[in-house]
Amino acid sequence: HTRTKPPPTPSPLRFSKFFQSNMRILVTGGAGFIGSHLVDKLMENKKNEVIVVDNYFTGSKDNLSRWIGHPRFELIRHDVTEPLLVEVDQIYHLACPASPIFYKYNPVKTIKTNVIGTLNMLGLAKRVGARILFTSTSEVYGDPLVHPQPESYWGNVNPIEDFFIAGVRSCYDEGKRVAETLMFDYHRQHGIEIRVARIFNTYGPRMNIDDGRVVSNFIAQALRGEPLTIQKPGSQTRSFCYVSDLVDGLVRLMEGDNTGPINLGNPGEFTVLELADTVKELINPQVVIKTVENTPDDPRQRKPDITKAKELLGWEPKVKLRDGLSLMEEDFRARLCISKKK
Ligand code: NAD
Ligand code: UDP
Ligand code: UDP
Repeated sequence: HTRTKPPPTPSPLRFSKFFQSNMRILVTGGAGFIGSHLVDKLMENKKNEVIVVDNYFTGSKDNLSRWIGHPRFELIRHDVTEPLLVEVDQIYHLACPASPIFYKYNPVKTIKTNVIGTLNMLGLAKRVGARILFTSTSEVYGDPLVHPQPESYWGNVNPIEDFFIAGVRSCYDEGKRVAETLMFDYHRQHGIEIRVARIFNTYGPRMNIDDGRVVSNFIAQALRGEPLTIQKPGSQTRSFCYVSDLVDGLVRLMEGDNTGPINLGNPGEFTVLELADTVKELINPQVVIKTVENTPDDPRQRKPDITKAKELLGWEPKVKLRDGLSLMEEDFRARLCISKKK
């Protein structure tokens, strides 16, 4: 790709004898589920210095406890809808609630986080000449009419949804779509180096136990001996990617030469009913499965076409659903203080 403007001159302090790292990386939303796993991976490289900004809406300092006090790590309480002044080389921009319960809780705030938050991070990237990666979502495809979804598909998103039905998804879907547009406009207009990942359903340790997403719900329910709640009809499909695979894809995208958008997800497709059966078999065969009402506008099917990620990033997921579920079970058992029966 081409840069139309040279980056501004970095501060002379960057070259002082006190400056140790080669790469200073900002992770917005770094106290969240995916963000904290990404921080773990970035911190493994001793040449990296990592700054996390997070407002703790759905994230937690606990997720970063192993890094607090580390000389190459900084944690800042900050809301990305406000301007941010830091000097960094790369920005992983993840800040945004990802679970439907939380992004529907304050829809206007969700839009502000995606639109104003992304604008601010792009303004920052422009000022300091940083490369910026945005975590978009498979929700940009809405209730897709093309299956599986390639990046070239424009999507089927309802921008307003039923005025009288509470809890609509468009604040998230359309917020992410505008954010993607902003990313590409800053790239074309200002020569910012951008990367756009479209993430499909990701699961793993550190997900909020009661965040309402299907994998965390089923595992917590199975461990607590509560019925697994299948939202009607149960034949809707999702493709579940284990978090370490996803984080690997994000870093490859950032380090590679392609702007994206690139789908990152596991192409293994399961109905919600199949997922419930698997969780039941693995964790608690005694548990019952019950059907409950669904929320409006629930996409009926979702599966990534990852041809582009394979070709351009040499990436594909490695962790199988059953293995990933077992790793997540261990983490949930520890946090819920439920030991394994012998
Ligand atoms: P998460 O809710 O665990 O993490 C989001 C983090 O952003 C939290 O720590 C939260 O406190 C923080 N945050 C939210 N609003 C903020 C604001 N205004 N200012 C500063 N911090 C703010 O969610 P996650 O699953 O880790 O998702 C991370 C990113 O990946 C999100 O952008 C999400 O849209 C995207 N994504 C996730 C999935 C998935 O399946 N997990 C799928 C598609 C896209
Ligand atoms: N911005 C920021 N940090 C910076 C530079 C900019 O948060 O280091 C914000 C700034 O407040 C603005 C947004 O990013 O709201 C977009 O900045 P840009 O310079 O692109 O646009 P302008 O300020 O001209 O509207
Ligand atoms: N779902 C379910 N039971 C639950 C939570 C979710 O059957 O307890 C269903 C939900 O209707 C959707 C799918 O699981 O069809 C995935 O939902 P999730 O909220 O995890 O993610 P998203 O809808 O954003 O893909």
